[in-house]
Amino acid sequence: MLQLFIPLGFLGIVYRQIKYALADMDLVFKLLERAPEITDAPAAPPLVLHKGAVRFEQVGFHYQPERVILQAVDFRIDPGEKVAVVGHSGAGKSTLARLLFRFYDPQQGRILIDDQDIRGVLQDSLRAAIGVVPQDTVLFNDSIRYNIAYGRTDATEDEVRRAAELAHIADFIARLPDGWDTVVGERGLKLSGGEKQRVAIARAILKRPRILIFDEATSSLDSRTEQAIQQTLAEVSEDHTTLVIAHRLSTVVDADRILVMDQGRVIEQGAHRSLLSQGGTYAAMWELQQREREADRQEAAS
Ligand code: ADP
Ligand code: MG
Repeated sequence: MLQLFIPLGFLGIVYRQIKYALADMDLVFKLLERAPEITDAPAAPPLVLHKGAVRFEQVGFHYQPERVILQAVDFRIDPGEKVAVVGHSGAGKSTLARLLFRFYDPQQGRILIDDQDIRGVLQDSLRAAIGVVPQDTVLFNDSIRYNIAYGRTDATEDEVRRAAELAHIADFIARLPDGWDTVVGERGLKLSGGEKQRVAIARAILKRPRILIFDEATSSLDSRTEQAIQQTLAEVSEDHTTLVIAHRLSTVVDADRILVMDQGRVIEQGAHRSLLSQGGTYAAMWELQQREREADRQEAAS
């Protein structure tokens, strides 16, 4: 009896976590690995959200003790600010997003929202305050309408449609065999990476949380759609506290601050112009991407 009881209790926790994962974040199996660790403290209060100030205080983190992923990461995003994170693949950028969403707890330092340690507040209230457009969106095996409206079940039909339009996914939906009722996901119609990203963007638009995280949110889109959606994302994040993880530097030029990450450390920090004039890693990355763009243009012209 006891043996049966324990796994079921565990499954309850896992189920709850999976629900969030499907709605907002990366891969389900990652959650299964660590779900039992992230729990609400006894009598944890809900997050009291004011303006959505985010602060990472000397954050250190590892997935496995033998491999440090983040070291003394320290930065803030003031209410309404947009902070961008750039750096090579594997630098630890997505890990920042996972920690802010509290899929893991840091082993060193603290993460605060409006001066409250996120470890001490109800997870539901924390996640309600944050919208994530992840690198890889997981869909429910349900209608595309449900998949978009999930973030805000009280949304009206009009609001859902408007969000789909802004995310440039409305025309695609109109062409589906059963339109808005078409079942998508692993057991339904499989969407491409770019289509899934647009579903995630529509969710975020509908949810309109105080704090937004875009994790390479447009990396699977062709450059024309990307440009159009960047515009939308800029509008959505206006006046919202925003963390943008970017692969293309052209999308971070207007950020209030840019963090350059390398092997789990923030090695440079500042606005675009100031980073360029420092002539360091960011300046070199910018130079390289400009040259690549120029090469693409010449190829397109010839
Ligand atoms: P980025 O987003 O900058 O490409 P990530 O934050 O995703 O980098 O990953 C940073 C490092 O952590 C990488 O080396 C990656 O392989 C490792 N990593 C990511 N997730 C896990 C995990 N669940 N378990 C162990 N290592 C992981
Ligand atoms: Mg990443």
